[in-house]
Amino acid sequence: MIYSRSVCKRAFFPGICGTLLIAVMGLLGYLPGMRILGSIGGNYIPMAPSTAVSFIFLALTLLYITLRSPSKSGLIFSFMTALIVTLFGGLEALEYFTGTDLTFEDVLVPLAGHLNGVPIGRMSPLTGLGVFLSGFSVILLVWRNRNTLRYDAFSRAAGWLGGLTFLVGFTAGLAYLYGHPLLYGRGITVPIALTSALGLIMLSLALFGAVGKTVFPLNILMGTSTRCYLLRFILPLAVTAVIAGGLTVLFAEKIAGVNPALLSALLIVAMTVFVGMLATWISRFVGGEIDRFQATAEQALKQQEELNIELNRLAKFPEQNPNPVLRLSADGSVLYANESSRTLLLNLKQRDGKILPDNFSVSFAELLMSGNVSQQEVDCGETTYTLALAPLTDEGLVNIYGMDITLRKKAEQQLAATMEQLRASNRDLEQFAYIASHDLQEPLRMIANYVQLIERRYKDKLDQDACDFIHYAVDGAVRMQQLIDSLLEYSRLQSRKKPFDSVDLNGVLKQALHDIERLIVETDARITSDSLPEILGDAVQLGQIFQNLISNALKFRGEAPPEVHIFAEESSGYWKISVRDNGIGIEPEHQDKIFKIFKRLHSRADYPGTGIGLAVCKRIIERHGGETGVESEAGKGSTFWFTLPKKEKDRHGRIQSN
Ligand code: ADP
Repeated sequence: MIYSRSVCKRAFFPGICGTLLIAVMGLLGYLPGMRILGSIGGNYIPMAPSTAVSFIFLALTLLYITLRSPSKSGLIFSFMTALIVTLFGGLEALEYFTGTDLTFEDVLVPLAGHLNGVPIGRMSPLTGLGVFLSGFSVILLVWRNRNTLRYDAFSRAAGWLGGLTFLVGFTAGLAYLYGHPLLYGRGITVPIALTSALGLIMLSLALFGAVGKTVFPLNILMGTSTRCYLLRFILPLAVTAVIAGGLTVLFAEKIAGVNPALLSALLIVAMTVFVGMLATWISRFVGGEIDRFQATAEQALKQQEELNIELNRLAKFPEQNPNPVLRLSADGSVLYANESSRTLLLNLKQRDGKILPDNFSVSFAELLMSGNVSQQEVDCGETTYTLALAPLTDEGLVNIYGMDITLRKKAEQQLAATMEQLRASNRDLEQFAYIASHDLQEPLRMIANYVQLIERRYKDKLDQDACDFIHYAVDGAVRMQQLIDSLLEYSRLQSRKKPFDSVDLNGVLKQALHDIERLIVETDARITSDSLPEILGDAVQLGQIFQNLISNALKFRGEAPPEVHIFAEESSGYWKISVRDNGIGIEPEHQDKIFKIFKRLHSRADYPGTGIGLAVCKRIIERHGGETGVESEAGKGSTFWFTLPKKEKDRHGRIQSN
């Protein structure tokens, strides 16, 4: 619907209603005793019946073509109606020049008499002009409906014709107000009735509405430009001023009987003052607007400049980066590279100015497809960089952010070298301990054997002191042998290790208990255990741990018969196995030390031993990737614990340590 889109309903409907109202009242005014309706209180001549009928036809045609999309026959009918009315109006206007009755109105409608000396019932040539102009405008509006290609051109022409119609009606209306009969045709020809002038104004209003707000004259009133904004203020003011002036004249001359010369002088003064005030207001308003605009423009300019300075600083950001920043296109062309990229660029393989894909572990195509950042190291002789290749998939570009990791690399290399040295010296030490203890055994055994031989053979021939000395020597040799055995055992942990296998700790515990059965019976111990897990490890070494911990629990027992409980707790990733006893306990400050080799808290007289058991346990557990520890209080028993990584089944069902 092309109409409803453009029609300005605020002008259209008041215009149509006003036209129809004035026309119907004009017609009614010819009924006997109803003149008051058609001639504004009976003081002015009424519009001619032909004028009223023309108005009604034009208003209804306009209403019909504007409100609905008319059919072809409807359009033809509307066109014909408007054409007849237009021709009629045109001929009436021509009567002024030809002096003959071209429309045969005399024959059609009898003269309705005179009012204030003016003949009434005939259309005035001025009204005819107005009807012609408005009728032509309606014709164009009907026409634009058939020719949508020239829709705007027809609308514009119709708008201008409507404007002229308004001019005719408004001029005549003012002539009445200001009392200038010549202007409304009196004395020259049949004068235009005041109601006809009002009818023309109303009709032109309806035409403006129908034409739409995008073309003249409503476009200049309703647009969004400053010009339209100003006009919306000034035009109503000017029209009101002109009408108010006219009303003043009318009142002063006709009712108050003021001298016409004085009146026009006063009117000139009033108009001058009004125009002056209007000019002042306009200049203030326009000046203010210009100042405001200028201030806003200056502000915007300043903001733009500030923004530029930022932007400039930001643009320098990657330039100032001490690390390489590059942007490459998908084919390897370098679109941007900061100063710090120079070394890197020199070391990257290039062909025809493009970085070759084999510089990187991933191709740009893969990178852009995945959208993920790829990290990699590039060795540039003296310098090593780690590069983050960040794809900009939408733009088909790759940003490269480099970082100089030369120092870190060197530190890593140094650390690796130191570790290797450490491992080597550790290996040497172990070797030394092993050889030393192994080779010491033989001479020591000889000393012990021969001293024991002296003791046996010459026991009766020696005095008590000599016997005691020999006894101490034997004792020392035996102890030394034990120590050397322990040391040998400790160093063998490394050399005699077996590959890990799946181990059921319940079985390992059972075997360990079997091995120390005599001790258990001797000490009258009660040993209980919960179900233990299956782990990955060295069954012999794990058995040694149980043996050491349980033997200790029995050795360091208190007054009561020993009670030992072995249990397992599950944690994420590992098992914690504990051996709890009711023995003598350990002071907190000693709890860390006892895992060190040869560290003991008691004299050999109180509790025999070499101080190697817990060190062995710790070493075995470390080899299994776990930790050792103790929770204890003096006199309240101890709980020795160790952790072992859980074993997990891989997707083939094989068991592996995690
Ligand atoms: P050893 O048993 O030969 O002395 P260990 O390395 O096995 O050597 O133990 C080191 C020390 O830790 C022991 O001398 C003892 O003082 C303390 N200890 C070990 N186990 C216990 C325990 N269950 N209760 C109290 N003290 C213990």
